[in-house]
Amino acid sequence: MTDYLFSAPPVMSVPVRGIEAQFPINRLFFVGRNYHAHAVEMGRPVDKSVERPFYFTKAPQTLTPSGATVAYPPETGNYHFEMEMVVAIGKAGFRVKAEDAHTLIYGYAAGLDMTRRDLQLVARDKGRPWDLGKDVEQSSVCSDIVPMPGVIIDIGAIALEVNGQTKQSSNVDKLIWNVREIIADLSLFYHLQPGDLIYTGTPEGVGPVVAGDHITGRVEGVAEVALTVGAAE
Ligand code: MN
Repeated sequence: MTDYLFSAPPVMSVPVRGIEAQFPINRLFFVGRNYHAHAVEMGRPVDKSVERPFYFTKAPQTLTPSGATVAYPPETGNYHFEMEMVVAIGKAGFRVKAEDAHTLIYGYAAGLDMTRRDLQLVARDKGRPWDLGKDVEQSSVCSDIVPMPGVIIDIGAIALEVNGQTKQSSNVDKLIWNVREIIADLSLFYHLQPGDLIYTGTPEGVGPVVAGDHITGRVEGVAEVALTVGAAE
């Protein structure tokens, strides 16, 4: 057994609905600008005929279970919610063809890609990395994973409320790059592994939260997700 100087960081994991074993996390991938109306609200419309999807990653340590209360994060005055459908990868794949993409899928979850929007936009506009805007502690919220091996979800409502008031309401059939296309494209860059999660992007209506806000969201046919924002540390 390896001796470590101090306790090794824990393996991050997510509960699986109906199964006692946890889903251990390898990597967290996020698709940028994957709904037209959200791309437009961010001032960066997408022309699929000439563009490819792009991605960012967050550390697995940013994972936070649905239902948690998290402190309003430091160094931001514009902390935003982004409601997303999450694909859980259960089999390895590299250079996967779109028609074979379903074979990698273990299941789905409902997730939140919480974002320091002020810092993300500064980084974007200065050509800097997005890490301080996106790789925020406790910012990758995930529901239980719902096992749906081999299933492609290409339709279903996706919605989010803050304090019961609807902020986002769309459908995953509006994804610019659908689940098959994302898995095929991402697997050109990465050897996808069991334990990878792919947050597929947020629809329009993103906005800020303040301490005391309660976020609820859902992906139809998958799961619900919730988060409470506490006072800043
Ligand atoms: Mn996002």
